[in-house]
Amino acid sequence: MDALDPMRPHFNFDNSFARTFEGFFVHCQAAPAVAPKLLQLNHALAEELGLDPVALDSEAGLAIFSGNVTPEGAEPLAQAYAGHQFGGYAPQLGDGRALLLGEVIDTRQRRRDIQLKGSGPTPFSRGGDGKVPLGPVLREYLIGESMHALGIPTTRALAAVTTGEDVYREIPLPGAVLTRIAASHIRVGTFQFFAAHGGFDKVRELTDYAIARHYPDTADAENPYLAFFAAVTDAQAALVAGWMNIGFIHGVMNTDNMTISGETLDYGPCAFMDTYAPGTVFSSIDTQGRYAYANQPAILSWNLTRLAETLIPLVDPDKDRAIELLTDTIHHIQPLYETHWLARMRSKIGLSTEDPHDLELINDLLWVMKDGHADFTLVFRRLAQALRGNSDAVRHLFEQSGAFDVWARRWRKRLEQDGVAAETSAQVMDRVNPIYIPRNHKVEEALAAAVDQEDMMPFSELLAVLSHPFDEVAGNEAYAAPAPVTDIPYKTFCGT
Ligand code: AMP
Ligand code: MG
Repeated sequence: MDALDPMRPHFNFDNSFARTFEGFFVHCQAAPAVAPKLLQLNHALAEELGLDPVALDSEAGLAIFSGNVTPEGAEPLAQAYAGHQFGGYAPQLGDGRALLLGEVIDTRQRRRDIQLKGSGPTPFSRGGDGKVPLGPVLREYLIGESMHALGIPTTRALAAVTTGEDVYREIPLPGAVLTRIAASHIRVGTFQFFAAHGGFDKVRELTDYAIARHYPDTADAENPYLAFFAAVTDAQAALVAGWMNIGFIHGVMNTDNMTISGETLDYGPCAFMDTYAPGTVFSSIDTQGRYAYANQPAILSWNLTRLAETLIPLVDPDKDRAIELLTDTIHHIQPLYETHWLARMRSKIGLSTEDPHDLELINDLLWVMKDGHADFTLVFRRLAQALRGNSDAVRHLFEQSGAFDVWARRWRKRLEQDGVAAETSAQVMDRVNPIYIPRNHKVEEALAAAVDQEDMMPFSELLAVLSHPFDEVAGNEAYAAPAPVTDIPYKTFCGT
């Protein structure tokens, strides 16, 4: 291709990870794709990254997103990391089916990773093929973009391509590659790997790097490493609170899937809950319910404790003192989480002030929802309708509306004390309570059409609806409704 070709996609790569951590990654090339096809390109995100979406929406863009061409300035590499998977330590995981192409500075001066996922085997593949079938690629695209529109920090999808080759699981499936954008791919598991293989010095280098990249303010703290840990705990506590407030179940909260940046990472067996049931588990491999909806806050603390363990030598030369300081921060995770959770819950039920009894009021609503088998998303959304004079819409979501009516009287008293006009509260509620979430049956429908019929229409329509989750649109009722009730519980699978 001509170097002056105006259609040539140009990335301003600046690869700080590759420059800094030689020995903790492996240079690697993507496997060639025989007959690639561009299925989806995220124009808005491309612009945000300072890329030209028109230049990318081309044969040249396709060659890059499929891994067939390494764009100028990219240094494809597989990162090494370790991790606790379902509580058991795996000393060497790493990018087994992904390659970091490099980093770009976006239009808001933020450093972002560009990663190919599904681009073929790497030295970390551990016998796996390094590939991803189309279904999981589209699932990550859809749910990640939905999370972004919902205001939850997340990695995002820039492009999805098919490779033209089959990936063999139980059956042959079309292979695909997702181009993933992240604040970084540094995980709790990255710290675990650095601690195991590089010791104190290497963890310090990684921490200094993560501070500069994600939490620059903590560099000026009295104890920067402790402040860094506190900053990660705050970002992750806010993230998990965000998940809980919208009924999201990550499904595989292993320490290698928990970011340092505070973004949601790895949309494998994740799914949104319909009926409120705190014990909900969708993942077929989570047989013990370790990552059940209601367990996510506890796992947050468990995972961050694994991060703390790697930071002990940095926090204080006196080991006991370091442990004491870190433990103190760990003890603050749950109160911190509850503060984030309660703040969002208050706005979900229309409160603009704080009252010591709010926690009880909210928990009682959750009890009534649980007993009444009510839809999590719709209850909150329709509370606003009750404020506008239509109480039946929300009442009908409960199997018996009596308990809800009792709760609603207490709620209205509390709102009176708040003193805000009903319509004002309702409008605020409609900005925090989505009407459209990725309903499991809608996601499955869109994926099945794409995979079985090569029909991307249902995917595109669903993506368009999910991009505006708070704006109710007449005609889109089918996207708001929970799945029809069946006897077969919904099951999800890891994206392998
Ligand atoms: P996950 O549970 O999806 O976060 O993946 C855990 C680990 O397994 C990571 O190190 C992945 O790179 C690796 N892995 C998952 N699927 C594959 C695959 N098909 N080929 C190679 N490695 C894989
Ligand atoms: Mg992972």
